[in-house]
Amino acid sequence: MIPGAFEYHRPKDMEGVLAVLQEHGDDARVIAGGHSLIPMMKLRMADIPHLIDLQDVQGLNSITVGDTITIGAMVTQHHIIENHALASAAPIMREASLQIADPQVRYMGTVGGNVANGDPGNDMPGLMQCLDATFTLVGPDGEREVAARDFYEAAYMTDREDEEVLTQVRFDKPQGGFAYEKQKRKIGDYATAAAAVQIVKDGDTCASASIAMTNLSDTPIYSEDAGAALAGTTVDDTAIEAAVAAMLGDIDPTEDNRGPIEFKRHAAAVILRRAIARAWSRA
Ligand code: FAD
Repeated sequence: MIPGAFEYHRPKDMEGVLAVLQEHGDDARVIAGGHSLIPMMKLRMADIPHLIDLQDVQGLNSITVGDTITIGAMVTQHHIIENHALASAAPIMREASLQIADPQVRYMGTVGGNVANGDPGNDMPGLMQCLDATFTLVGPDGEREVAARDFYEAAYMTDREDEEVLTQVRFDKPQGGFAYEKQKRKIGDYATAAAAVQIVKDGDTCASASIAMTNLSDTPIYSEDAGAALAGTTVDDTAIEAAVAAMLGDIDPTEDNRGPIEFKRHAAAVILRRAIARAWSRA
């Protein structure tokens, strides 16, 4: 299929990007890897008269690893997988990225596109909520920061204004054990259910846990109650079932070609049990 006609802009800096966004408003959209936007345009589900390519804009491609980790919006999923410092400091990033689509998509798909898109099927929004990440947005009024846990409002609706560009994601170096578990229909598919889990251990007990779910509501779901159900326990079967029950109270899946609601709730429970067990074994 062929998209509708559009004008292609390729500014050299962020000022140029913002100028086109301000001039054309809702008629303009930035394009990063194009692996969500172009399919939508080809299916005529999006008609964008002005596309603004971000690839010549400096400063969006770096990964900085320290006590705080910063990832530029144009960093691809492939870059995440290949970056040894990041894989060592935040291994959940690599584990999750390896479960996104296939190598061809991962060479193009960016962190910024994945988190800004607002598609409930994207894996990185839930991952960012699990890591309690902060997003940096720049617009005509300057820069501002938004917590990943506050960013998602509904499917394809986020806190980002039309004239703002997401420039980076940032989070503290995660502590303890981790797991990203994903149930999908086939290799390369979006999640039927996915769980991101980080667990910090203190002796034999769980000091804290962070849990977020993907594609089980119209936004990613950070389940504070599920994490709280594990804190202070030895993460035995009773605690895991309490966490699963809390998570099931937070999600709101709908029936679609990935299955009926009851199946999705079942898949979510199975995936979360597995993710908790693996994160705990690594904590
Ligand atoms: P684009 O397609 O360029 O942009 C997507 C949207 O985000 C657009 O609205 C664009 O305007 C906006 N945008 C992009 N960058 C910015 C920015 N910096 N600031 C503000 N807005 C921005 N993803 C998964 O998570 N899991 C999967 O399993 C998965 N499977 C896939 C399978 C296939 C076959 C394909 C084609 C894609 C799949 N994807 C999957 C999506 C892919 O991972 C993309 O990374 C992602 O959806 C969008 O990233 P992108 O860089 O291509 O963004």
